[in-house]
Amino acid sequence: MHAVDLALSTLFVPRCASCDARVAPGQPLCATCMVSVDPLGPACPHCAEPMELPPLATAPICARCRRTPPPYELLIAPWRFGGELARVLRRLKFAGRPELARELAPMLVPFFHEVVVTAAIDVVVPVPLHWRRLAGRGYNQAQVLAAEMLAAARPGLIRAGHPLRLDPLTLRRRRATPPQTGLSAAERARNLAGAFAVAPRRAARLRGRRVLVVDDVATTGATIAEATRTLLAAGAAAVVGFTVARAGD
Ligand SMILES: [Zn+2]
Ligand SMILES: [Zn+2]
Repeated sequence: MHAVDLALSTLFVPRCASCDARVAPGQPLCATCMVSVDPLGPACPHCAEPMELPPLATAPICARCRRTPPPYELLIAPWRFGGELARVLRRLKFAGRPELARELAPMLVPFFHEVVVTAAIDVVVPVPLHWRRLAGRGYNQAQVLAAEMLAAARPGLIRAGHPLRLDPLTLRRRRATPPQTGLSAAERARNLAGAFAVAPRRAARLRGRRVLVVDDVATTGATIAEATRTLLAAGAAAVVGFTVARAGD
């Protein structure tokens, strides 16, 4: 083997997104790490809040959605936040590993494809970072996730006659919000009020569109809800949220 080929084959060895063990191509996590990854399971069909038991006919949505219906049509989160998936998402976000989004994509694409088609989505909008945080991190993890899912789903979506575009520029973060960790649902909502804006010159791109807002994790759904309010106020027809994982609060 030539030195160059050798170097390339070493570079592109597929590795577990959590522990870096070698894996088969297209496999996001090694078998050992995959054991700790759980599907969302019983959850509120509106906001994906995990529930002890499947929703009842008499109480089909969670108490919070009954009290204050979220502005988005639906929040989709295929996986439960925790285990090695939580570690992958932390590495993606804080360890300078944006390429992990590509490794995660196979776990997300079937769900992404389904929501895009069934909810008739026109535009995918990642939750933006404030420019200062973006400058520090070098990338927006929500944007790389959205781009990787879109790239992996595109052939299937084209076959299904469903072209789609990614718009990472129209929704902006107006201010850097303090971290949400440890805040109650009400505090999270207050923390985020007015955090987003739509660039006025780009608002026309959203008018009448059905938007999928993408983020890495939802805990109470407050970020997706606030992004939704901003997008609807700018003229979007409807918003659906999509996060890799949903934490219970
Ligand atoms: Zn592993
Ligand atoms: Zn709910």
